[in-house]
Amino acid sequence: MTSAVATPTGATAPAVAALAYHDGEFVPLEQARVPVTTQALQYGTGVFEGIRAYAQADGGLAVFRGRDHYLRFLRSARTLRIDVGLDAEQLSEVTAELLRRIGASEDTYVRPLAYKRSLLPGTPPGVQLQGVSDALSINAFRMGSYTDRAGIRVAISSWRRPESGVLPVRAKVTGGYVNNALAVDEARAAGYDDAILLNSRGQVAEASTSNVFAVVRGRLVTPPLSADLLEGITRDTAVTLAADLLDVGTDFTDLGRDDLCNADEVFLTGTGAEIVPVTEIGGRPVGEGTPGPLTTALMTAYHKVVRGDDQRYRHWLQPVRPAAARPSATGGTT
Ligand code: PMP
Repeated sequence: MTSAVATPTGATAPAVAALAYHDGEFVPLEQARVPVTTQALQYGTGVFEGIRAYAQADGGLAVFRGRDHYLRFLRSARTLRIDVGLDAEQLSEVTAELLRRIGASEDTYVRPLAYKRSLLPGTPPGVQLQGVSDALSINAFRMGSYTDRAGIRVAISSWRRPESGVLPVRAKVTGGYVNNALAVDEARAAGYDDAILLNSRGQVAEASTSNVFAVVRGRLVTPPLSADLLEGITRDTAVTLAADLLDVGTDFTDLGRDDLCNADEVFLTGTGAEIVPVTEIGGRPVGEGTPGPLTTALMTAYHKVVRGDDQRYRHWLQPVRPAAARPSATGGTT
């Protein structure tokens, strides 16, 4: 698929839709490959993010909370001693350039990945973080909203979320997602859409790739960071929008599985899932078994915000300007 887009110099050129930023340059996606000896492939020593860019109400495309995602990405990378080589601003600029180069104009998902690559000279083989080179790739693909507004059915997984003394749960580490994949696999095999994982104390941690909220007596309740969850950016967005726009406060307290079953409403938050109502947990309806009013109001608010329809949250949107409209190009990234 090709289309004409402006190049950084302002001229038009055919755009190859499938491109990646890989080892410091933009290459066709099929050339963004790694050898089988890649350390991260063998040991799960990579970190990643999932970021969405949304088509805006007034035209154009904007990355939603990209800086927050990249700050988390860099924190994750530090945990694994990965030197990404770019700061959050530079990563955001590379992302904008990638989106321009692929000619993205509709909703797009951005996947940055930083990983341990190969043993440096003198480093003996083995599981380790030091003495291993680092690498960065970013790819992006079109992905519209897949939120099921009618609600999803989730299982409580028999797989537990690892505690922070077992895995760095606050980091998005590739290897840790074995746990999430097993939980999703179990849930799907039993006919559910997704899984909620309890932590080692038997309290709710999070869903496979999203955070969990319950509505109890008109307030939101979501597990605290001590519940071994990933601190979701959408979780923060939901808390902020509920307080600002719906006058609904959030309690950060532990939730047991019975709390979820007795809640008036339950919903999940995540970059991919956005805000999605949970209408059934482990074969029992949540509330009336239909999306509740607070969840629905929050979903509506969220979708307005990500599309730039609500001016109060424009600071969360990084517009992907056409090349000619940019003040200047960042050196070394284009
Ligand atoms: N928990 C896990 C395990 C996830 O993978 C994600 C998705 N990044 C989330 C929660 C939600 O995080 P966010 O809202 O930042 O996408």
